[in-house]
Amino acid sequence: NYFPKSIPANYAKFSKIGDDACNIDTPSLVVDLDAFEYNLKLLPNIVESISAKGQNIKIRPHYKSHKCPSISVLQHEIGGATGICCAKITEAETLVFGSQSSRAWDILITNQVASERKMERIYNVIKKLAENPQSAPLGVCVDDFFQISLLEMMLASTSFKLDVYIELNVGQERCGVNSPAEALELAQRITSFTSFNFKGLLAYNGSNQHNRSHLERSETVMSSSFKGKIISCLDTFKENDIKCQIVTGGGTGSFPYEIQSGVFQEIQPGSYIFMDADYYSNFTELGDHNHAFKKSLFVYSRIQSLKGLDSLNPRIIVDAGLKAISLDSGPPEVLLPQDYPKFEYLNQGDEHGKLVPPIGCIVGSKQFKLGEIIKLVPGHCDPTVNMVRS
Ligand code: PLP
Ligand code: MN
Repeated sequence: NYFPKSIPANYAKFSKIGDDACNIDTPSLVVDLDAFEYNLKLLPNIVESISAKGQNIKIRPHYKSHKCPSISVLQHEIGGATGICCAKITEAETLVFGSQSSRAWDILITNQVASERKMERIYNVIKKLAENPQSAPLGVCVDDFFQISLLEMMLASTSFKLDVYIELNVGQERCGVNSPAEALELAQRITSFTSFNFKGLLAYNGSNQHNRSHLERSETVMSSSFKGKIISCLDTFKENDIKCQIVTGGGTGSFPYEIQSGVFQEIQPGSYIFMDADYYSNFTELGDHNHAFKKSLFVYSRIQSLKGLDSLNPRIIVDAGLKAISLDSGPPEVLLPQDYPKFEYLNQGDEHGKLVPPIGCIVGSKQFKLGEIIKLVPGHCDPTVNMVRS
């Protein structure tokens, strides 16, 4: 908002298609479109290749990774998606009121909503979706009667419908009911209110995505506190004549195991489209899918100060600090030519980072230049994307 409304088209901060990459202003978030497209098309291929015959797994990618309506369109048109997950109402609003507002989005907010203020916003989203001649459903998750009663109040005396999912705690100890009995009580209340369409269960374990060993990720999904709990819930629903239409969950680190578990009908990976340094440190085994996806998201930074290259403590300083790159899942990976030793990124505050050579390595004056672009692979893609305006 600091800038005047009409920024000159040639304003030097912005790059244009066709510009040379070495002229990109820094720090900048850059997407490698070839790698991006590769990931986009690979996901439905992996899903198909590991699905059993007739299993028909749906793909509902998570919007929080990119927050770009145009990327969601691509995920639908060539990435096999049949719906989209949003982490919060703000994200759903950008899809429903933003540049792609005419599309019949099928949105699931994978969270609970527990405030009246937000109910107003959900109501406005449902109202806008209802204007679409095609069916454009909205779903939300609940794990308590309180959220259900707010939703009931919001929908009372309207003709709008809402998809409601019960979140089941399958080991992350975040949101979600713990027992089939709790799930049944909520499901009975949901199915008794005609404006609700009870869809089923959200069963997502975020911490399992980043267990390094693929065996650990797989065993977690197949365990009694994960798959076993889902089956108990489904049995309880069945015994009580409650129709569960879908079980949804699974992210980039674990979706093959959710598919193989046989209890899921839908998966929700988000990070696969960009990947990040943290996901790339998931244990590599032949056949482990995490490295099948390519790194497509980079922060371009520039060497702005270069001192002491002939010493054991050189100061190779780049212009990407913690305001350009999220550090919550560890530092970014420093991409350098293959014949270079492995340098680490060390944060130096809001706007600075330092490239640190291996201990005992004298860099010498030839390897780096002031003004040179250094590509960094973010440790965690989602919050890094959140730092820039899209
Ligand atoms: N589904 C839910 C409910 C999530 O919270 C997330 C991310 O945290 C995802 C899916 C996507 O996970 P990932 O970006 O690791 O693929
Ligand atoms: Mn994430």
